[in-house]
Amino acid sequence: MQIIKNIEEMQALRGKMEGSVGFVPTMGALHQGHLTLIRQARAENDHVVVSVFVNPTQFLPGEDLEKYPRREEADRKICDLAGVDALFMPEIGAMYHDDEVKLKAPAYLGYILEGHRRPGHFDGVVQVVMKLFNLIRPTRAYFGKKDAQQLRILQKMVEDFFMSVEIVPVDTVREEDGLALSSRNVYLSPEERERALSISRSLKRASRLVMAGETDAEAIRLAMEDMMREIDVEYIAVVDRDFRPLERVKLKETIILVAARVGHTRLIDNIWI
Ligand code: AMP
Repeated sequence: MQIIKNIEEMQALRGKMEGSVGFVPTMGALHQGHLTLIRQARAENDHVVVSVFVNPTQFLPGEDLEKYPRREEADRKICDLAGVDALFMPEIGAMYHDDEVKLKAPAYLGYILEGHRRPGHFDGVVQVVMKLFNLIRPTRAYFGKKDAQQLRILQKMVEDFFMSVEIVPVDTVREEDGLALSSRNVYLSPEERERALSISRSLKRASRLVMAGETDAEAIRLAMEDMMREIDVEYIAVVDRDFRPLERVKLKETIILVAARVGHTRLIDNIWI
């Protein structure tokens, strides 16, 4: 596996890659969720590139940019074992220039839910992913459904800018007890982790209600809220695949999303119905 920190080296290596290139962008502290994306990329492409870059422009002032977990050594080993061809780990100064041209997330999709709670976050995401796509020129890029709104916005970016990369959505990987894997889970104390379980349990409850014939979004929301009384719920949203609010759940068209704070840690999760 090649470890690349430099832009020119990345471009040169990409130039030599023939056939399809699968790309998995990450912020590192790799876990089983990331590994699932990497494995799928490995299975579907001739070459696999993973990036580890804690992108400063998607963090708001006061968020966890400085203390975001960094595990460079472990990340290298995981990628190497997973058969990654190139691990791209650029410095911030290599990725960003002074007074840049800036992309903006879509006015609706980028400013509801996560975008409303974290204004500017998705602007930073599209900025960095556009840069990474232009450097790596992937055939396919793999993103987790766990970050459902990010996934939809990036699909939109690719459509809106007529880009030729295929965005591949990957199901959320969970711990045995249901907690969605996240690099931020390391912040949770054992007691907080226990309370955090109410997020995935409430989503499971929602899916059971739907399977039992409940379609009323408000009834589902209330049932979920009831299960998450021990944590600070920021939102519970029942939306369609374009993130328009739904009053009635429609099978194969609905996403139910939760954002909540458990202690100082902000967690998101969702279920696709
Ligand atoms: P991150 O390093 O958190 O920016 O995540 C990098 C990629 O991994 C994103 O596409 C995430 O959606 C995806 N990802 C993170 N957690 C999970 C998970 N539990 N299951 C599947 N994909 C995930």
